[in-house]
Amino acid sequence: MNEIEPVVAEGAHSSSSGAEGAQTSPRIAEGAQAWPRADHSTEPACGRAPMGLLAELTYRCPLQCPYCSNPLEMDKPSTELSTAEWQRVFKEAAELGILQLHLSGGEPTARKDLEELVKTASQSGMYTNLITAGVLLTKDRLKALQDAGLDHLQLSIQDVDEANAEKISAYKGGLAKKRELCGWMHALGMPLTVNAPIHRANIENLPAIVEFAVAMGANRLEVAHVQYYAWALKNRAALMPTREQMMKTVEIVDAAKEKYKGIMVFDFVVPDYYASRPKPCMGGWGRGSMNITPSGRVLPCHAAESIPGLEFDNVRNKSLSDIWLTGQAFEKYRGTSWMKEPCRSCDRREIDWGGCRCQAMMMTGDPTNVDPACGLSPRHAEFVALATAESHVTTPPPFVYRRLGGTVG
Ligand code: SF4
Ligand code: SF4
Repeated sequence: MNEIEPVVAEGAHSSSSGAEGAQTSPRIAEGAQAWPRADHSTEPACGRAPMGLLAELTYRCPLQCPYCSNPLEMDKPSTELSTAEWQRVFKEAAELGILQLHLSGGEPTARKDLEELVKTASQSGMYTNLITAGVLLTKDRLKALQDAGLDHLQLSIQDVDEANAEKISAYKGGLAKKRELCGWMHALGMPLTVNAPIHRANIENLPAIVEFAVAMGANRLEVAHVQYYAWALKNRAALMPTREQMMKTVEIVDAAKEKYKGIMVFDFVVPDYYASRPKPCMGGWGRGSMNITPSGRVLPCHAAESIPGLEFDNVRNKSLSDIWLTGQAFEKYRGTSWMKEPCRSCDRREIDWGGCRCQAMMMTGDPTNVDPACGLSPRHAEFVALATAESHVTTPPPFVYRRLGGTVG
C-alpha cells in the first residue's frame, strides 16, 4: 500500500484542534448537519446549523511548538475579546444550534476568566471541550472548571521522552505536569483525550505514546500527523516524516486499536502529502464548524486568512448567526458551485468537498483549484516529491519556534 485515505477516525465524537490539535482538522461527527445550497449540491435544501465552534480564547502560550496552528501573525493580548463579549458569543452560538464548543488557544487556561466562560457555555447547553497543553492547570482549578460545567479535556503531548518533549516545546518540566494532570482527571472522573501531534522528531516514539495514553487512563488518543499550515508549514522541512515512517504508524495504530479495543478509542490523521485523496477539510467549507480568533474574527478554518479576497466578519460588529448565514468568507467556498474540474464532475465532491482551499492556494496560487493532496490534481506529483525530498534530508533544519512576539530559530 503506497497511499492511504486521509483521515481515519473512530467513533462519532467531534474533536477539534485548536492550536494543539489544530494540526488535525476537526472531524464532523456522524449526522453532522449540512448547509443548504442553491447550487449543484444534492444536499437537502433545509436550514442547518453548524455543529462545532472552536473558540481561540487567546494566543498566549508558555510553549513554543514548531507545528502550532496559530497564525504567524497573532492577535495581541490587548485585542482579546472580553469576558462579556465571549459570553455573548457563546449564547449566540447555542441559539444558532451549535452543540460542541472547543475552548482553545494558544493556551486557553491563560485566561483568568475561563471558569466564567465555561459556566456560560455549559448553561447555554453546549458540550464543552478544553484543548490544553495542561501545564498551567492546578488541581483546584481543574475542579473549579468541572464545577463550572466542563465536560471534557483534550491534553496535548509533545513526546513521552522528556528531553525530546522539552526540545519540541521549548518548555521545561511539561511532561511531569501532564502526568499529574491526568491523575487529577482520573480522580475527578472526567473524560480525557490525549492528542499527539506526530512528526519526524517524535514519530519513532509512537508505540510509547500509545502506552502513555493508556497508562494515563485516556478514553481516546488522537494520533495526528502534523498538518502543514502556519508554523508547521514554516517548519515543514524539520517535521516531515518519510512515507515509510508514516506507513509504519498506520500499522502501529491498527495493532493498538485491536489491543485496546473497549479501553481506548483512536483517531488517526495522516499527512496530506502522503494521501491519495484529500481530507474533507473542516468537513467542508462553511458546513459544520467555525473558528473565532482571540480578537473576534470568524473564520471557516484556521488558515483561511491565507486566502486573498476573503472578508472576515468580527463578532464585535455582527451576530454569529448573520456571519454564518451570510458572511462573505463562508459563502465563498460553501457547497460545490465554486468548483472547477476535476472536482466539479467528481463523485467525491460531496465527500471531501475538493479538499483544502488553503492548501490549493498555498501550492497553486488559486484557491479554486483542486487540493494538490488529491491524486487527480496536476500538481500532486510535485506535492509528493516535495515531502519526499524534505523527509530524506539527513540533517533537518533547526526548528523555528512559535512565539507571540516574533520568531526564534
Ligand atoms: S505553542 Fe504548542 S501548546 Fe502552545 S498553542 Fe501552539 S501547539 Fe499548543
Ligand atoms: S477531484 Fe476533487 S472532489 Fe474528486 S477526489 Fe479530488 S479533490 Fe475530491
